[in-house]
Amino acid sequence: MKSEVVRKMDELGRIVIPIEMRNALGWDDETKISISRQGERLVLQTYQGSCFVCGSEENLKQIHGKYICRECVDELNR
Ligand SMILES: [Zn+2]
Repeated sequence: MKSEVVRKMDELGRIVIPIEMRNALGWDDETKISISRQGERLVLQTYQGSCFVCGSEENLKQIHGKYICRECVDELNR
């Protein structure tokens, strides 16, 4: 699989992600994609959710379909 493709964006800013790349990442039409800017780059990645208590996106654990971060779990255990 090629790791780079060139696509033209349409007038609404849409591009098509090649099916081979979507399949390789397990992305389908239900997948939530996070878009973040890093300087001159846009990074697309599977949206992992955020802690329902503090909003952090790091060190997440999933419980009953919601995410909570390690720090909040630690705070609950104190
Ligand atoms: Zn948290």
